[in-house]
Amino acid sequence: MLKQARDRAEPWDMIIVGGGATGAGVAVDAATRGYATLLLEQADFGKGTSSRATKLVHGGVRYLEQGNVSLVMEALKERGLLRQNAPHLVSELPLIVPSYSWWEGPFYGIGLKLYQVLSGKYGFGASQLLSKDETLKRLPSVNPEGLTGGVVYYDGQFDDTRLLINLVTTAAEQGATLLNYARVTKLNKGPDGILDGLSWQDLETGETYEARSRVVVNATGAFSDSVRHLAEPDAAKMIAPSQGAHIVLDRSFLPGTNAILVPHTKDGRVMFALPWHDHTLVGTTDTPIEKVTLEPVAFDQEIEFILETAGLYLAKRPTKADILSVFAGIRPLVKMGEGKNTAALSRDHTVHIDPSGLLTIAGGKWTTYRNMAQDAVNQAATLGDLPEKDCVTKTLNIHGFHTNAEKFGSLAFYGSDAPAIRQMIDEDATLGRQLDAELPYVEAEVVWAAREEVARTVEDILARRTRALFLNARAALRMAPRVAAILARELGKDEKWAADQIEKFGQTASGYLIGSME
Ligand SMILES: Cc1cc2nc3c(=O)[nH]c(=O)nc-3n(C[C@H](O)[C@H](O)[C@H](O)COP(=O)(O)OP(=O)(O)OC[C@H]3O[C@@H](n4cnc5c(N)ncnc54)[C@H](O)[C@@H]3O)c2cc1C
Repeated sequence: MLKQARDRAEPWDMIIVGGGATGAGVAVDAATRGYATLLLEQADFGKGTSSRATKLVHGGVRYLEQGNVSLVMEALKERGLLRQNAPHLVSELPLIVPSYSWWEGPFYGIGLKLYQVLSGKYGFGASQLLSKDETLKRLPSVNPEGLTGGVVYYDGQFDDTRLLINLVTTAAEQGATLLNYARVTKLNKGPDGILDGLSWQDLETGETYEARSRVVVNATGAFSDSVRHLAEPDAAKMIAPSQGAHIVLDRSFLPGTNAILVPHTKDGRVMFALPWHDHTLVGTTDTPIEKVTLEPVAFDQEIEFILETAGLYLAKRPTKADILSVFAGIRPLVKMGEGKNTAALSRDHTVHIDPSGLLTIAGGKWTTYRNMAQDAVNQAATLGDLPEKDCVTKTLNIHGFHTNAEKFGSLAFYGSDAPAIRQMIDEDATLGRQLDAELPYVEAEVVWAAREEVARTVEDILARRTRALFLNARAALRMAPRVAAILARELGKDEKWAADQIEKFGQTASGYLIGSME
């Protein structure tokens, strides 16, 4: 990939800046249309917001309440397409809205029926009113005091970075060149003032390269304005960043297979408690922020707010000491004029073209990445005067596609790759060793990530190829030395490199430990 990126003399059809959900989706779309495509990501694929979602493939019940029916319909359709194209990663999740007064059941029941109807032929399970007993049976850990019943409805659940790495692989299989640790440092203009390429730096060697392109797509999410400013320093900002935090607890807080949706928190938002990878994931918040960073840290008040809200709905009230991991992400909300309330900003996506010809695709959500990519590539093809080609991603299987992946047990999320990992273990039993007693990950997954999924650092493996850091930060720290040793062997690095990796990972992991350090 590096060689292809460095050696290409002729211009690319499309260079994509940013390797999150949006950029990877654009790369898959562009490559499948036959365009010569290069994607450059400054850190690891998914290091930005795309590893930090609530893990729902959803239409967004909240937007329905706000009357944004077309946004919900589009997302519900994409939800169905994603389950169709990546069944190894998307599963159906029953969510229950517990009710604590007589009117809540019928009230939410009607709204959630509409949600179901809007999904049409892409529907998931049917929503239904539950009695108090049925609610308690499905949610044994829900606060029983004053409970009158509930409403169950269905959405999708996924693993965001597993999907992302599968999209990166899909794009590569379709002929795209994709690099992580390659930062775009400059946007270059031709004599007419229109972009004709860019400069990028290989962050592993420090070398800088130039690449020419017919069109440049800015898919940098919350960083969109900083990349736009490389071409036009005075361009008015289009992103209003907003932070959302999650906490992870052990499974005992939410046993079973059902999730909880809290329809109205104190600040008028929705909040979720979900079973995820045998843990309990609770979030999220919505806090406007000024500064966008790659490793945002949850604010104390966000953690307090999540704990307080969860405590109202769970029989066992979680405390800071129960938090196994806490992570924050930044929503790249698109501004629709002035206003301070980020919850009222556009959740829709926007394709914006600057006078320099830089095309920015931002906003939307993970669920709608495919549709966002389709819109962006349609426009980019016109802008770059590329041969017209139809989008084919609606029916494109994503790498790993498998309709019965559960049979692979703890390797299910690898889909059709799972047998190859199993075979590695069959050939060398030491690779079947678990890396930590509290998480299911084995040594073979480290080797696989290094050889097949372009993992370059300990963090890549513990945060995004596996989800150890997001599930249990202390366990991830315990795993780091062994992961560093295996990765050093795979990448041909020395002991000093491994020690440095362990230290760097320790620094990153400290941001996920806030709760449990108190
Ligand atoms: C708390 C939270 C919960 C969410 N939950 C859900 C959910 O449950 N379901 C759902 O559908 N959506 C959810 N979303 C929304 C979804 O996660 C985002 O819309 C999506 O991940 C945005 O992806 P992106 O690719 O646009 O941005 P990012 O993932 O941030 O990717 C942008 C990338 O650009 C790179 N970059 C920046 N500058 C440069 C440069 N100069 N050179 C090269 N690369 C660069 C960054 O390193 C980054 O990796 C959630 C969002 C948040 C914040």
